[in-house]
Order: sequence, then structure tokens, then C-alpha cells
Amino acid sequence: MREILITSNQIEEKVSELADRISEDYLGLEPVVVGVMRGAAIFHADLIRKINLNLSIDYITVSSYGNDTRSSGEVQLLKDLKTALEGKHVILVEDIVDTGLTLSFLERMLSARNPASLKVCSFLSKPECRKIDVEIDYLGFEIPDRFVVGYGLDYRQMYRNLPFVAVLRSDGDSN
Ligand code: IMP
Repeated sequence: MREILITSNQIEEKVSELADRISEDYLGLEPVVVGVMRGAAIFHADLIRKINLNLSIDYITVSSYGNDTRSSGEVQLLKDLKTALEGKHVILVEDIVDTGLTLSFLERMLSARNPASLKVCSFLSKPECRKIDVEIDYLGFEIPDRFVVGYGLDYRQMYRNLPFVAVLRSDGDSN
């Protein structure tokens, strides 16, 4: 049996809560909400539809994991944004912050483009696994040091479509 860590109802509530906070904080502004592919695809899509602002979206693709459950420690930019960020209010939407390497790489790269502001919204965080201290402005859930799948998160590209977050069993099966 798989172990469900976060149910789809809990996710829905949390996404609304985060969207409300963002709508309030960015009142009168038109932020660019950047989804980090592919893990944040589902979270990003749900979140933006609940934000009550005029906003634009864009996507960036990075890879830090091969096919393993441990970070390779190397972050690679696979596909860049189309939007020029200079003078824009940018919200970076991540699936999960684990070691913090991906986020710190992205923050460094994007802040060099002189946005008016840069904030981070992450669906999950594993604080026990941090190697670099990073700040998360809008956080969904803190989870323990377990490899999780679902709601956009994968194991070897599978399970992204699960509507909940589950712990991956040691045999790699999530059913
Ligand atoms: P970090 O660079 O170690 O913080 O890792 C960030 C990336 O690793 C995330 O954007 C995920 O794509 C992936 N990742 C980290 N932990 C998990 C997990 O438990 N399940 C699935 N992917 C994960």
C-alpha cells in the first residue's frame, strides 16, 4: 500500500490560501508567475487560476536529478524563459525545495536580470535536507525526508498525475 501524505482536499485548501495571500500582497501589480518545469506544472496551473490579479505566466525548465531519488547536485538550465524580467515582479513557483540547490541556482540566475522583485512560492519543502539556506516566501507544506510523488512530482517521470502526494515505496511502486 502507498502512504498518502497530503490529500487532494488538503492540497486544494492550501493552494487557495497561498493564492489569496499572493493576490493581497501583489494588489495593483501584474506579476510574472514562473513555473519551474516539470515538477511545478500542476501546482502552477492550479495556483494561477486562483490568483485574483492580472498576471502573465512563463516556464523555465531545469534538471538537477537524473533518474534517481537523490540530487546529483548539478543544476542545468534546459529551457529558458521567453519573458524579459527587467523591472517585473517575479514569482517563482517550485514543486519542492530539497537541498535548495535548484532554487539558489534559479534565484541567482533570475535576479541577475534585474526584476523589480523576486519571490518564491513552493508547494513542498524538506527542511531536513537543506544544503543551502534559501528563503521560501509562500510555502505549501513542510514534509519529512521522504521521497514523495504525485501532484506534479515524479519518480522516473511517473506518478505526476496522482491528485495527492504519496510516499514512494522502496520498490519504486506507488500503488
Ligand atoms: P533541490 O535542488 O535538491 O532542492 O531539488 C529540487 C528538485 O528535486 C525539485 O524541484 C524536484 O524536482 C526534485 N525533488 C526533490 N525531492 C523530491 C521528491 O521527494 N520527489 C520528487 N522530486 C523531488
